[in-house]
Order: sequence, then structure tokens, then C-alpha cells
Amino acid sequence: MVDVRGVHKSYGTHEVLTGVDLRVRPGEVTVLLGPSGSGKSTLLRLINHLERADRGFISVGGELMGYRRAGDRLYELREREILRQRTRIGFVFQDFNLFGHLTVLENLVEAPVSAQRRPRAEAEAHARELLARVGLAEKADEYPRRLSGGQQQRVAIARALALRPDVLLFDEPTSALDPELVGEVLEVIRDLARAGTTMVVVTHELGFAREVADTVVFLDGGRILEQGPPAAVLDRPSHDRTRAFVDKVL
Ligand code: ATP
Ligand code: MG
Repeated sequence: MVDVRGVHKSYGTHEVLTGVDLRVRPGEVTVLLGPSGSGKSTLLRLINHLERADRGFISVGGELMGYRRAGDRLYELREREILRQRTRIGFVFQDFNLFGHLTVLENLVEAPVSAQRRPRAEAEAHARELLARVGLAEKADEYPRRLSGGQQQRVAIARALALRPDVLLFDEPTSALDPELVGEVLEVIRDLARAGTTMVVVTHELGFAREVADTVVFLDGGRILEQGPPAAVLDRPSHDRTRAFVDKVL
């Protein structure tokens, strides 16, 4: 579903990703771990083509992100085409990023109507279904500022789902939340995993990773140091750096 091949990314002289290969199969959950500055957020932004790789390629659902192949040549896609590709990828941020001037329901309806040209009535019906799924059916007409952080993040997840994406990317979805609100958000992500949603989740919640991830990937200094089933990477890491990280986070 997500195929990252030989990706390099630098900012100025700082090489942030130094040859990353990652495959996420349909229905699988990949948890991305790594110290601050290791390139986790950069990798998510590259998958979404919010940043462009210096070398290497990324495809999502079999489609090369940002480029069109014609024979053996590659052409850059226009902004409009890139926006269309991006609608197939849901992105959930640490700080929710809801539209403050729109109600919860409008937050969910906006992109399907404007970016996907779906009929408003259908988009609204789908939005209400999604709000029910994240336990917020009764908040449809509320404004985001009147919700708790955990509720806002659940709205953000529902909004990402409203585009019917092929894959959901999460960048530390619970790290801006008060501790007592973390559980309700993880529970929603856990439900999505059970329903077979393809996801890449950056998180430091190792208990969650152990329970939900098919694959745990440990990124260090811009490269994947190791990856595998949670029990292998978290309990029997083969690198000292992974072990040191896991011990510190626990
Ligand atoms: P954290 O756990 O703190 O969120 P991260 O693993 O997500 O860290 P990134 O945000 O991907 O790390 O950043 C990796 C490195 O790239 C950092 O050194 C950061 O300063 C640098 N970096 C990221 N974005 C930019 C940018 N737009 N311009 C310059 N440097 C950047
Ligand atoms: Mg980050």
C-alpha cells in the first residue's frame, strides 16, 4: 500500500533521511519509533508529498507520489494532481489542526465536498456515521474549541477518514494530550486497526505499539536501524541503540 524506496532527504547540508526503504501492506499497522530528530515527521511528510525526496521514490496504492511515468521518463505532477493524490492519504497531527471557524460536522464535510466533489448530503451522512464511530455523534454542531483535546483529536481522526483514504498517517497523535485523555484516542486507533485500516503511526506509546502494530520500525539518525514484529523489536532488539531507546521510553 505504501512503498518507500531508497529515499534521501536533506535540509541544506543536514542529511535527515539517508536511504529509507519501507513497505506497508494493506490492512497493516506500522509503528514508527525513534529519538527526536531521527526523521519520523519528515518521513510522514514525504509519504504525503508535503516534502519532496532528493532521491528515491514513494508510491501509495500503486501510484507514484508527485510524478507521472511516461515510458522511461518521469514528469512532475501539477499541484492540482498532487492535491488529488493527497486526498487518498489521511494525516492526523499532534495538535489536531481542526478548522476553528467550522463546526465539527463542517470540519468533516469540507474536504469531501470541495476536494472530492461529493454531494453534500452524502458527505454529511458519512460524516455523522464517522462521528458515531469515534463516539462523538452528539457533538456534530459544536465548535472545536468547546471540546476537550481528546475529543478534538477524535474529530481529527474522523475528518481524516471522511476522505475514505487508502492509508492513515499519525504523527504523535496523543503527545499533546493530558494523560487522562490519551486512552480514548488510542482506543479509536485500536478500533481502526481491528477494522483493517492501513496505518503508519509515529508514537512513543510502546504498550499500544506492542498491542496494535504488525511491524515496529526503529528510525535512528535518518535510517531504519531495525524493524520487525513488536515482540522482536521491543523485547529483543538487536541493536544497543534500540534497546537504549526502548528502556528510556518505558
Ligand atoms: P521529533 O520526535 O522531535 O518530532 P522527528 O523524528 O519527527 O523528531 P523531524 O521533525 O523529521 O524529526 O526532523 C529531523 C531533522 O530534520 C531535525 O534535525 C530537524 O531539525 C530537521 N528538519 C525538519 N524539518 C526541517 C525543515 N523544514 N528545515 C530544516 N530542517 C528541518
Ligand atoms: Mg516529529
